[in-house]
Amino acid sequence: MHKVFAWFLGAALMCAMGTNLAMARDKEPFSANPTNAPIPSVFGFAKFMKPEVTKIDDGIYTFAHAGARNVFIVTGQGVIMTDPLNPTSAQIMREEIRKVTDQPVKYVIYSHGHWDHAAGGVIFKNEGAKFISQEKCVAYFKNFPNPDVPMPDITYKDHKTLKLGDKTLELMYLGPNHSDCLTFIRIKGTPYLVMVDMANPGSAPRGDLMDYSLHNWVRTLKEVESMVADGVTTIIEGHGPPSAPLSAVTERREYLEALMSAVKAEMEKGTPGDKIVETLTLPQFMHLKNMDKYFKKNVDRVISYYTIGY
Ligand SMILES: [Zn+2]
Repeated sequence: MHKVFAWFLGAALMCAMGTNLAMARDKEPFSANPTNAPIPSVFGFAKFMKPEVTKIDDGIYTFAHAGARNVFIVTGQGVIMTDPLNPTSAQIMREEIRKVTDQPVKYVIYSHGHWDHAAGGVIFKNEGAKFISQEKCVAYFKNFPNPDVPMPDITYKDHKTLKLGDKTLELMYLGPNHSDCLTFIRIKGTPYLVMVDMANPGSAPRGDLMDYSLHNWVRTLKEVESMVADGVTTIIEGHGPPSAPLSAVTERREYLEALMSAVKAEMEKGTPGDKIVETLTLPQFMHLKNMDKYFKKNVDRVISYYTIGY
């Protein structure tokens, strides 16, 4: 009898706690930073690194620092720039842009929500820049609030044309691929497409392929390759060299397809996951940078993809 009562009391308490938790969840959306505590300064290392500015074409520049890259475009009526990267890099970026032009930064376009690209924009916000992102980034920013990431002032759904001075940009959302709010930027009248975290030229993709939808990644890369019909020949990526031919996109797509089909074939044969990670090779891609560092993690991630649909 006592046991039954104890069970009942326990169950009732569990239910009450569950209800309270559910109510708490209703009241306040989940937050990665619920106390609004300062985010640790994980980019402190950046202050020891040298910035690099490269002129790509008339009025088109790329700034690289601490392993990431952005683009800034001088239009005659102000500057349009992509990601501020991180608070340390953004300070240095501001000085470097000033060496090129005294025009103010009018727009900051977030490539996506991840902090290694999106953080540090406060100094540009303070000088009056308007921030733009694909609309789904707003939910991401709310879910992962960071005081170094100003909320966008302007959002768009599928396409947005941004004109300033003598430059016209076409902002495009191509569906889920890396995160679910990635913006591709076509600089109209030029051969350039700006994109981030889709095809770091000449390198294997990083580690465990964080926040990628693998089949959508392949689909998107094919869409980018087809932009050759619209005059795109050159990409400017968020990591790697200042620019690269469109063949870098093809190389990344072929690597992913080979990786996925090789892993799938082993799984269909019944090879255990650990064994696949240990033994699989893709000899035709050994020339890529960081294969030694990332390949086994890439394989493990693809096993997860086929095992749980992630
Ligand atoms: Zn990212």
